[in-house]
Amino acid sequence: MLNFDHAASTPAHPDVIRTIAEVMAVHSGNPSSIHRSGEAASKLLERSREVCAEALDVKPGEIVFTSGATESNNLAIKGVMLGRSDGRRHIVTTQIEHSSVYESCRQLESLGFETTYVQPESDGTVSTDRLLAAVRQDTALVSIMHVNNETGAVQPIEEIGRRLKSLDSRVLLHVDGVQGFGRLALDLKAASIDLYSVSAHKIRGPRGVGLLFVREGVRLFPLLSGGGQEGGLRAGTENVASIVGAAKAFRLAAEGRTERAAKMKAFRDTLVKEVRLHQALTLTEPIKPAPHIVHFTFPGLKSQVILHTLEELGMLVSAQSACAAKTEKPSRVLSAMGREREHATSGIRLSLGDEHTQEDIRLLSEALDKAVRRLAPLRGESDN
Ligand code: PMP
Repeated sequence: MLNFDHAASTPAHPDVIRTIAEVMAVHSGNPSSIHRSGEAASKLLERSREVCAEALDVKPGEIVFTSGATESNNLAIKGVMLGRSDGRRHIVTTQIEHSSVYESCRQLESLGFETTYVQPESDGTVSTDRLLAAVRQDTALVSIMHVNNETGAVQPIEEIGRRLKSLDSRVLLHVDGVQGFGRLALDLKAASIDLYSVSAHKIRGPRGVGLLFVREGVRLFPLLSGGGQEGGLRAGTENVASIVGAAKAFRLAAEGRTERAAKMKAFRDTLVKEVRLHQALTLTEPIKPAPHIVHFTFPGLKSQVILHTLEELGMLVSAQSACAAKTEKPSRVLSAMGREREHATSGIRLSLGDEHTQEDIRLLSEALDKAVRRLAPLRGESDN
């Protein structure tokens, strides 16, 4: 079985697995304890913070470890809005964000906050003009992802950051960097990003660990209260072994980014050519695509049917984001882009990892060809 669902999760790197096992075997201390064992754990934790800070080119004190990007996004959005005391109660986000951003905003709305969800252009890119036009006098936060997890559309984060701050320097910018980190360059300082979410399991680290970059001076209302860990922003005994493993993954992801992106881009180009060969498929073509995601639709069929056919042919792919995979509802992202229902219910995402080889790509192309030949005659039989 070949896994082409790396946007959902990636296989842990062997060095990461080894590191986690070693730390778990040797260190049993609680980093908050003041005895030797606690101090050793605390040292490992702080060293991991330094490693992650280096990978993001920020200060160690600006890193908050979390249980993953869902928590990072929740902490960024709810933390800013609940912590703000200047009466600003409006959020600007987009219609194509991950559910952890979308649902955080929805929850805040139930508490009396307001959100504007900006529509993307038909290629899946959010226009900076449109986004900034939604900013009001009472806007506290703009939240936008770097790379869309479904279509791979890269958003103009640098331009948004620059123009947002000259429009109103008191509006904070949060970027969900989950799909961009380790694949695309992003200078957090130059882009004036105040908060940045990342997840370790998307870059060959363990599941259940992420981080939130919180620019020095940005105030957040903590979502977890207790022992005051993580600078008071996230109470709870830290998952030291996994954090040390995650730090290794962050370092590897940052160090190998340029070569990884170049290799993925070449593989993506091959797959794009293969998709274009089939009239039955419609390639989703963002103006600026991320190197690791290829998305297409197969109108007349349900995503699940295509996905399972590819699975029978030995290929693991996904329909929508993993978090929405179990529903048969039209994709929220494709619907926002103006795609008709028959497209919004027949999307397939192929996502690449850094361990894929030329031969894997050849096998995937072959399987795609077989799947299309097998399924094209069945089009229209499903109730799209
Ligand atoms: N944001 C994006 C863009 C994602 O793709 C994901 C993972 N599906 C998340 C946030 C949530 O990350 P995690 O699985 O670490 O909670």
